[in-house]
Amino acid sequence: MKINTKCVQSGYEPQNGEPRVVPVSMSTTFKYDSTQTVGDLFDLKADGFFYTRLANPTMAAVEKKIADLEGGTAAMLTSSGQAATTLSVLNLASSGDKIVSSSEIYGGTYNLFNVTLKRMGIDCIFVDPDDTDGLEKAVKTKGVRAVFGETLANPALKVLDIEKWAKTAHGANVPLIVDNTFATPVLCRPFEFGADIVIHSTSKYMDGHAVSLGGVIVDGGRFDYKKGGFKQFTEPDESYHGVVYTESFKDAPFVTKARVQLMRDLGSMISPMNAFLLNLGLETLHLRMPRHSENALEVAEFLKKDKRILSVSYPGLQTDGQHAKCKKYMNGSGSGVISFDVGDKEKAARLMDSLQLAKIVVHVADARTGVLHPASSTHRQLSDRELAEAGIKPGMIRLSCGIEDKADIIADLKQALDNM
Ligand SMILES: *Cc1c(COP(=O)(O)O)cnc(C)c1O
Repeated sequence: MKINTKCVQSGYEPQNGEPRVVPVSMSTTFKYDSTQTVGDLFDLKADGFFYTRLANPTMAAVEKKIADLEGGTAAMLTSSGQAATTLSVLNLASSGDKIVSSSEIYGGTYNLFNVTLKRMGIDCIFVDPDDTDGLEKAVKTKGVRAVFGETLANPALKVLDIEKWAKTAHGANVPLIVDNTFATPVLCRPFEFGADIVIHSTSKYMDGHAVSLGGVIVDGGRFDYKKGGFKQFTEPDESYHGVVYTESFKDAPFVTKARVQLMRDLGSMISPMNAFLLNLGLETLHLRMPRHSENALEVAEFLKKDKRILSVSYPGLQTDGQHAKCKKYMNGSGSGVISFDVGDKEKAARLMDSLQLAKIVVHVADARTGVLHPASSTHRQLSDRELAEAGIKPGMIRLSCGIEDKADIIADLKQALDNM
Protein backbone atom coordinates (compact mmCIF):
# COMPACT_ATOMS: atom_id res chain seq x y z
CA MET A 1 0.00 0.00 0.00
CA LYS A 2 1.01 3.60 -0.61
CA ILE A 3 1.77 5.86 2.34
CA ASN A 4 -1.50 7.80 1.92
CA THR A 5 -3.45 4.57 2.42
CA LYS A 6 -1.24 3.45 5.31
CA CYS A 7 -1.99 6.71 7.18
CA VAL A 8 -5.68 5.86 7.07
CA GLN A 9 -5.75 2.07 7.25
CA SER A 10 -2.59 0.54 8.77
CA GLY A 11 -2.46 -1.05 12.20
CA TYR A 12 -6.06 -2.14 12.74
CA GLU A 13 -8.11 -4.80 10.98
CA PRO A 14 -11.54 -5.26 12.59
CA GLN A 15 -12.97 -8.77 12.73
CA ASN A 16 -16.61 -9.63 12.10
CA GLY A 17 -18.85 -7.37 14.20
CA GLU A 18 -15.99 -5.47 15.86
CA PRO A 19 -15.78 -1.65 16.01
CA ARG A 20 -14.74 -0.13 12.66
CA VAL A 21 -12.49 2.40 14.44
CA VAL A 22 -9.68 1.28 16.75
CA PRO A 23 -11.34 1.39 20.20
CA VAL A 24 -9.84 3.09 23.26
CA SER A 25 -8.94 0.19 25.52
CA MET A 26 -8.96 2.23 28.72
CA SER A 27 -8.00 -0.72 30.89
CA THR A 28 -4.81 -1.21 32.86
CA THR A 29 -5.17 -4.97 32.83
CA PHE A 30 -6.57 -7.93 30.88
CA LYS A 31 -8.45 -11.04 31.95
CA TYR A 32 -7.35 -14.62 31.25
CA ASP A 33 -8.90 -18.02 31.90
CA SER A 34 -5.75 -19.87 33.01
CA THR A 35 -2.48 -19.25 34.79
CA GLN A 36 -0.72 -21.06 31.93
CA THR A 37 -1.81 -18.41 29.41
CA VAL A 38 -0.52 -15.63 31.66
CA GLY A 39 2.75 -17.53 32.13
CA ASP A 40 3.20 -17.83 28.37
CA LEU A 41 2.60 -14.09 27.98
CA PHE A 42 5.23 -13.32 30.62
CA ASP A 43 7.65 -15.70 28.90
CA LEU A 44 7.04 -13.80 25.63
CA LYS A 45 5.97 -17.15 24.09
CA ALA A 46 2.50 -15.83 23.22
CA ASP A 47 1.33 -12.50 21.85
CA GLY A 48 -1.13 -10.63 23.99
CA PHE A 49 -1.68 -8.04 26.65
CA PHE A 50 -1.40 -8.27 30.39
CA TYR A 51 -0.57 -4.83 31.71
CA THR A 52 -0.81 -1.47 29.92
CA ARG A 53 2.66 -0.37 31.05
CA LEU A 54 3.99 -2.97 28.59
CA ALA A 55 1.33 -3.22 25.91
CA ASN A 56 -2.29 -2.32 25.21
CA PRO A 57 -4.50 -2.96 22.16
CA THR A 58 -5.01 0.74 21.29
CA MET A 59 -1.31 1.48 21.70
CA ALA A 60 -0.41 -1.65 19.68
CA ALA A 61 -2.58 -0.62 16.72
CA VAL A 62 -0.99 2.83 16.57
CA GLU A 63 2.51 1.38 17.01
CA LYS A 64 1.87 -0.93 14.08
CA LYS A 65 0.68 1.97 11.93
CA ILE A 66 3.76 4.10 12.68
CA ALA A 67 6.13 1.17 12.07
CA ASP A 68 4.40 0.69 8.72
CA LEU A 69 4.62 4.39 7.83
CA GLU A 70 8.36 4.47 8.54
CA GLY A 71 9.05 1.11 6.90
CA GLY A 72 10.31 -0.32 10.21
CA THR A 73 9.71 -3.71 11.80
CA ALA A 74 8.13 -2.62 15.12
CA ALA A 75 7.46 0.48 17.19
CA MET A 76 6.87 1.46 20.80
CA LEU A 77 4.90 4.51 21.89
CA THR A 78 6.13 6.59 24.82
CA SER A 79 4.65 9.34 26.98
CA SER A 80 6.52 12.12 25.13
CA GLY A 81 9.24 12.75 22.59
CA GLN A 82 11.68 13.26 25.45
CA ALA A 83 10.90 9.76 26.75
CA ALA A 84 11.47 8.30 23.27
CA THR A 85 14.88 9.97 23.02
CA THR A 86 15.86 8.89 26.53
CA LEU A 87 14.85 5.25 26.10
CA SER A 88 16.43 4.97 22.64
CA VAL A 89 19.78 6.10 24.03
CA LEU A 90 19.56 4.06 27.25
CA ASN A 91 18.83 0.96 25.16
CA LEU A 92 22.36 1.29 23.70
CA ALA A 93 24.52 3.17 26.18
CA SER A 94 25.25 2.72 29.89
CA SER A 95 27.26 4.64 32.44
CA GLY A 96 30.82 5.00 31.13
CA ASP A 97 29.74 4.93 27.47
CA LYS A 98 29.55 7.86 25.07
CA ILE A 99 27.21 9.04 22.35
CA VAL A 100 27.77 11.37 19.39
CA SER A 101 25.11 13.90 18.49
CA SER A 102 24.60 16.59 15.90
CA SER A 103 24.85 19.96 17.62
CA GLU A 104 21.78 21.12 15.67
CA ILE A 105 19.03 19.47 17.70
CA TYR A 106 15.95 20.30 19.74
CA GLY A 107 16.77 22.27 22.92
CA GLY A 108 15.21 19.64 25.19
CA THR A 109 17.33 16.92 23.61
CA TYR A 110 20.43 19.11 23.99
CA ASN A 111 19.78 19.47 27.73
CA LEU A 112 19.08 15.74 28.09
CA PHE A 113 22.42 14.91 26.44
CA ASN A 114 24.43 17.75 27.94
CA VAL A 115 23.15 17.64 31.53
CA THR A 116 20.97 14.72 32.59
CA LEU A 117 22.57 11.84 30.70
CA LYS A 118 25.97 13.25 31.61
CA ARG A 119 24.98 13.04 35.29
CA MET A 120 24.09 9.41 34.66
CA GLY A 121 27.59 8.79 33.30
CA ILE A 122 26.87 8.94 29.56
CA ASP A 123 28.92 11.66 27.86
CA CYS A 124 27.89 13.27 24.62
CA ILE A 125 30.24 14.52 21.91
CA PHE A 126 28.46 17.22 19.89
CA VAL A 127 29.50 17.74 16.29
CA ASP A 128 28.51 20.30 13.66
CA PRO A 129 26.27 18.30 11.26
CA ASP A 130 28.29 19.51 8.26
CA ASP A 131 31.72 18.78 9.75
CA THR A 132 32.55 15.44 8.09
CA ASP A 133 36.03 15.14 9.62
CA GLY A 134 34.73 16.01 13.08
CA LEU A 135 32.05 13.34 12.77
CA GLU A 136 34.54 10.67 11.61
CA LYS A 137 36.80 11.46 14.52
CA ALA A 138 33.97 11.56 17.08
CA VAL A 139 32.40 8.20 16.15
CA LYS A 140 35.79 6.50 16.40
CA THR A 141 36.21 7.68 20.00
CA LYS A 142 36.46 4.74 22.37
CA GLY A 143 33.14 3.86 24.02
CA VAL A 144 30.76 5.49 21.51
CA ARG A 145 27.51 3.45 21.44
CA ALA A 146 25.09 5.63 19.47
CA VAL A 147 25.01 8.43 16.93
CA PHE A 148 22.09 10.87 16.95
CA GLY A 149 20.71 13.54 14.60
CA GLU A 150 17.48 15.22 13.47
CA THR A 151 16.18 14.94 9.88
CA LEU A 152 15.09 18.58 9.92
CA ALA A 153 16.59 20.24 12.97
CA ASN A 154 14.33 22.16 15.35
CA PRO A 155 14.90 25.15 15.49
CA ALA A 156 17.92 25.50 13.16
CA LEU A 157 15.99 24.15 10.12
CA LYS A 158 19.08 22.32 8.88
CA VAL A 159 18.62 19.06 6.98
CA LEU A 160 20.77 16.14 8.16
CA ASP A 161 22.82 14.34 5.52
CA ILE A 162 21.39 11.02 6.75
CA GLU A 163 23.28 8.89 4.21
CA LYS A 164 26.62 10.35 5.24
CA TRP A 165 25.85 10.08 8.94
CA ALA A 166 24.66 6.47 8.62
CA LYS A 167 27.74 5.48 6.63
CA THR A 168 30.07 7.10 9.13
CA ALA A 169 28.29 5.53 12.12
CA HIS A 170 28.32 2.10 10.47
CA GLY A 171 32.04 2.47 9.75
CA ALA A 172 32.48 2.29 13.52
CA ASN A 173 29.72 -0.39 13.94
CA VAL A 174 27.50 2.04 15.81
CA PRO A 175 23.78 2.54 15.04
CA LEU A 176 22.31 5.85 13.88
CA ILE A 177 19.21 7.18 15.67
CA VAL A 178 17.28 9.80 13.69
CA ASP A 179 14.65 12.11 15.20
CA ASN A 180 12.19 12.46 12.31
CA THR A 181 9.68 14.72 14.10
CA PHE A 182 9.72 17.71 11.74
CA ALA A 183 9.74 15.75 8.48
CA THR A 184 7.38 12.91 9.46
CA PRO A 185 7.39 9.71 7.35
CA VAL A 186 5.25 11.51 4.77
CA LEU A 187 8.22 13.72 3.79
CA CYS A 188 11.17 11.49 4.73
CA ARG A 189 11.71 7.87 5.72
CA PRO A 190 15.19 7.78 7.30
CA PHE A 191 15.45 3.95 7.11
CA GLU A 192 15.61 4.30 3.31
CA PHE A 193 18.84 6.29 3.78
CA GLY A 194 20.49 3.95 6.28
CA ALA A 195 19.19 5.05 9.70
CA ASP A 196 18.83 2.19 12.21
CA ILE A 197 16.36 3.62 14.71
CA VAL A 198 13.81 6.38 14.12
CA ILE A 199 12.19 8.34 16.92
CA HIS A 200 9.53 11.05 17.02
CA SER A 201 7.89 13.52 19.26
CA THR A 202 4.37 12.60 18.13
CA SER A 203 3.22 15.75 19.96
CA LYS A 204 4.00 17.71 16.78
CA TYR A 205 2.77 16.94 13.24
CA MET A 206 1.77 13.33 13.89
CA ASP A 207 -0.81 14.36 16.48
CA GLY A 208 -1.15 17.52 14.42
CA HIS A 209 -3.82 19.22 16.49
CA ALA A 210 -1.84 20.13 19.62
CA VAL A 211 -3.99 17.88 21.81
CA SER A 212 -1.81 15.06 23.09
CA LEU A 213 1.83 14.58 24.02
CA GLY A 214 3.54 11.41 22.91
CA GLY A 215 6.62 9.86 21.40
CA VAL A 216 7.61 6.76 19.49
CA ILE A 217 10.66 4.58 18.86
CA VAL A 218 10.74 2.64 15.57
CA ASP A 219 13.04 -0.32 14.93
CA GLY A 220 14.65 -0.55 11.49
CA GLY A 221 15.43 -4.20 12.24
CA ARG A 222 18.70 -4.26 10.25
CA PHE A 223 21.52 -3.25 12.58
CA ASP A 224 24.13 -5.94 13.34
CA TYR A 225 24.48 -5.83 17.13
CA LYS A 226 26.90 -8.73 17.15
CA LYS A 227 29.43 -6.93 14.96
CA GLY A 228 29.18 -3.84 17.15
CA GLY A 229 29.74 -5.84 20.35
CA PHE A 230 26.38 -4.86 21.88
CA LYS A 231 26.24 -7.71 24.40
CA GLN A 232 22.99 -6.46 25.91
CA PHE A 233 21.32 -7.63 22.67
CA THR A 234 23.34 -10.75 21.87
CA GLU A 235 23.78 -12.34 25.29
CA PRO A 236 21.11 -13.53 27.76
CA ASP A 237 19.25 -10.78 29.65
CA GLU A 238 19.28 -12.12 33.20
CA SER A 239 16.65 -9.56 34.20
CA TYR A 240 14.28 -11.25 31.75
CA HIS A 241 15.05 -14.91 32.48
CA GLY A 242 17.77 -15.21 29.92
CA VAL A 243 16.14 -13.96 26.74
CA VAL A 244 18.60 -13.17 23.90
CA TYR A 245 16.97 -10.35 21.93
CA THR A 246 18.80 -10.89 18.64
CA GLU A 247 17.85 -14.58 18.69
CA SER A 248 14.26 -14.60 19.94
CA PHE A 249 13.30 -11.31 18.28
CA LYS A 250 15.42 -11.17 15.13
CA ASP A 251 13.13 -8.68 13.36
CA ALA A 252 12.89 -6.15 16.17
CA PRO A 253 15.48 -6.68 18.90
CA PHE A 254 15.77 -2.95 19.61
CA VAL A 255 12.11 -2.26 20.31
CA THR A 256 11.59 -5.57 22.12
CA LYS A 257 14.41 -4.84 24.55
CA ALA A 258 13.26 -1.23 25.00
CA ARG A 259 9.80 -2.52 25.90
CA VAL A 260 10.38 -5.54 28.11
CA GLN A 261 13.39 -4.09 29.93
CA LEU A 262 13.31 -0.28 29.86
CA MET A 263 9.57 0.36 29.69
CA ARG A 264 9.11 -2.32 32.33
CA ASP A 265 11.54 -0.54 34.65
CA LEU A 266 11.08 3.13 33.79
CA GLY A 267 7.39 3.17 32.92
CA SER A 268 7.10 6.11 30.55
CA MET A 269 4.20 4.76 28.48
CA ILE A 270 1.62 6.79 26.61
CA SER A 271 -2.00 6.59 27.77
CA PRO A 272 -4.43 4.62 25.58
CA MET A 273 -6.52 7.79 25.21
CA ASN A 274 -3.55 9.75 23.89
CA ALA A 275 -2.71 6.88 21.53
CA PHE A 276 -6.30 7.03 20.23
CA LEU A 277 -6.04 10.79 19.65
CA LEU A 278 -2.67 10.35 17.96
CA ASN A 279 -4.25 7.83 15.60
CA LEU A 280 -6.87 10.38 14.54
CA GLY A 281 -4.04 12.75 13.70
CA LEU A 282 -2.17 10.10 11.72
CA GLU A 283 -5.23 9.46 9.55
CA THR A 284 -4.81 12.89 7.92
CA LEU A 285 -1.01 13.25 8.14
CA HIS A 286 -0.65 12.64 4.38
CA LEU A 287 -3.06 15.50 3.65
CA ARG A 288 -1.64 17.92 6.18
CA MET A 289 2.10 17.65 5.46
CA PRO A 290 1.87 18.75 1.80
CA ARG A 291 -0.48 21.57 2.86
CA HIS A 292 1.87 22.73 5.68
CA SER A 293 4.74 22.70 3.16
CA GLU A 294 2.79 24.52 0.43
CA ASN A 295 1.62 27.23 2.85
CA ALA A 296 5.06 27.66 4.38
CA LEU A 297 6.73 27.98 0.98
CA GLU A 298 4.37 30.75 -0.11
CA VAL A 299 4.74 32.55 3.25
CA ALA A 300 8.56 32.22 3.07
CA GLU A 301 8.52 33.70 -0.45
CA PHE A 302 6.35 36.58 0.78
CA LEU A 303 8.70 37.27 3.74
CA LYS A 304 11.76 37.04 1.52
CA LYS A 305 10.44 39.87 -0.70
CA ASP A 306 9.80 42.22 2.25
CA LYS A 307 12.66 44.68 2.78
CA ARG A 308 11.95 45.01 6.54
CA ILE A 309 12.99 41.40 7.03
CA LEU A 310 16.74 40.76 7.24
CA SER A 311 16.77 37.05 6.53
CA VAL A 312 14.47 34.06 6.03
CA SER A 313 15.35 30.40 6.64
CA TYR A 314 13.16 27.78 5.05
CA PRO A 315 14.58 24.63 3.43
CA GLY A 316 11.76 24.55 0.87
CA LEU A 317 13.01 27.83 -0.68
CA GLN A 318 15.17 27.18 -3.76
CA THR A 319 17.58 29.86 -2.57
CA ASP A 320 17.98 28.29 0.90
CA GLY A 321 21.35 26.71 1.72
CA GLN A 322 19.54 23.53 2.81
CA HIS A 323 17.48 23.13 -0.35
CA ALA A 324 19.70 20.54 -2.08
CA LYS A 325 19.49 18.23 0.96
CA CYS A 326 15.77 19.03 1.28
CA LYS A 327 15.31 17.79 -2.30
CA LYS A 328 17.28 14.62 -1.66
CA TYR A 329 15.76 13.68 1.69
CA MET A 330 12.35 15.36 1.77
CA ASN A 331 11.31 15.47 -1.86
CA GLY A 332 11.80 19.25 -1.84
CA SER A 333 8.99 19.81 0.69
CA GLY A 334 10.17 21.94 3.58
CA SER A 335 7.51 21.07 6.21
CA GLY A 336 5.74 23.92 8.04
CA VAL A 337 8.30 25.84 10.09
CA ILE A 338 10.05 29.05 8.97
CA SER A 339 12.39 31.29 10.89
CA PHE A 340 13.02 34.93 10.02
CA ASP A 341 14.91 37.86 11.48
CA VAL A 342 13.37 41.31 11.91
CA GLY A 343 16.52 42.86 13.43
CA ASP A 344 15.90 43.29 17.16
CA LYS A 345 13.81 42.12 20.14
CA GLU A 346 11.55 45.19 20.21
CA LYS A 347 10.56 44.84 16.58
CA ALA A 348 9.98 41.12 17.05
CA ALA A 349 7.69 41.85 20.02
CA ARG A 350 5.74 44.56 18.12
CA LEU A 351 5.25 42.27 15.13
CA MET A 352 4.16 39.31 17.24
CA ASP A 353 1.82 41.36 19.42
CA SER A 354 0.10 42.67 16.27
CA LEU A 355 -0.62 39.26 14.79
CA GLN A 356 -4.25 38.18 14.95
CA LEU A 357 -4.68 34.86 13.15
CA ALA A 358 -1.22 33.61 14.16
CA LYS A 359 -1.16 33.12 17.93
CA ILE A 360 1.81 33.28 20.30
CA VAL A 361 2.38 29.72 21.53
CA VAL A 362 5.26 27.65 22.89
CA HIS A 363 4.62 24.89 20.38
CA VAL A 364 5.13 24.25 16.72
CA ALA A 365 3.80 21.86 14.13
CA ASP A 366 0.05 21.80 14.50
CA ALA A 367 -2.91 22.71 12.30
CA ARG A 368 -3.05 26.32 13.56
CA THR A 369 -0.49 28.97 12.63
CA GLY A 370 1.62 29.95 15.63
CA VAL A 371 4.61 32.14 16.40
CA LEU A 372 7.38 31.91 18.94
CA HIS A 373 10.19 34.30 19.87
CA PRO A 374 13.06 32.00 20.91
CA ALA A 375 15.18 34.74 22.53
CA SER A 376 12.45 35.62 25.05
CA SER A 377 10.90 32.17 25.54
CA THR A 378 12.49 28.79 24.75
CA HIS A 379 16.03 30.23 24.89
CA ARG A 380 15.36 32.88 27.57
CA GLN A 381 17.92 31.44 30.01
CA LEU A 382 20.80 31.94 27.57
CA SER A 383 23.12 34.95 27.67
CA ASP A 384 23.61 37.07 24.51
CA ARG A 385 26.84 35.18 23.82
CA GLU A 386 25.17 31.78 24.31
CA LEU A 387 22.29 32.93 22.09
CA ALA A 388 24.78 33.80 19.36
CA GLU A 389 26.47 30.40 19.75
CA ALA A 390 23.11 28.65 19.44
CA GLY A 391 22.45 30.63 16.24
CA ILE A 392 19.52 32.49 17.84
CA LYS A 393 19.40 36.14 16.82
CA PRO A 394 17.52 38.55 19.13
CA GLY A 395 15.12 39.49 16.33
CA MET A 396 14.48 35.94 15.19
CA ILE A 397 10.88 34.73 15.01
CA ARG A 398 9.85 31.14 14.48
CA LEU A 399 6.66 30.81 12.49
CA SER A 400 4.84 27.48 12.35
CA CYS A 401 2.54 27.62 9.33
CA GLY A 402 -0.78 25.93 9.86
CA ILE A 403 -3.17 24.53 7.29
CA GLU A 404 -5.44 27.60 7.09
CA ASP A 405 -5.77 29.45 3.77
CA LYS A 406 -2.34 30.83 2.92
CA ALA A 407 -3.84 34.15 1.76
CA ASP A 408 -5.14 34.73 5.30
CA ILE A 409 -1.79 33.85 6.90
CA ILE A 410 -0.01 36.27 4.57
CA ALA A 411 -2.58 39.05 5.10
CA ASP A 412 -2.11 38.71 8.87
CA LEU A 413 1.68 38.96 8.55
CA LYS A 414 1.34 41.94 6.21
CA GLN A 415 -0.75 43.99 8.67
CA ALA A 416 1.56 43.04 11.56
CA LEU A 417 4.64 44.08 9.58
CA ASP A 418 2.99 47.45 8.97
CA ASN A 419 2.57 47.83 12.75
CA MET A 420 6.17 46.77 13.46
C1 LIG B 1 9.22 18.71 20.61
C2 LIG B 1 10.36 17.91 20.17
C3 LIG B 1 10.91 16.91 20.99
C4 LIG B 1 10.40 16.64 22.39
O1 LIG B 1 9.12 16.11 22.33
P1 LIG B 1 8.03 16.22 23.52
O2 LIG B 1 6.91 15.42 22.96
O3 LIG B 1 7.72 17.67 23.69
O4 LIG B 1 8.64 15.62 24.73
C5 LIG B 1 11.96 16.16 20.50
N1 LIG B 1 12.46 16.38 19.28
C6 LIG B 1 11.97 17.34 18.46
C7 LIG B 1 12.57 17.55 17.13
C8 LIG B 1 10.91 18.15 18.88
O5 LIG B 1 10.44 19.11 18.08
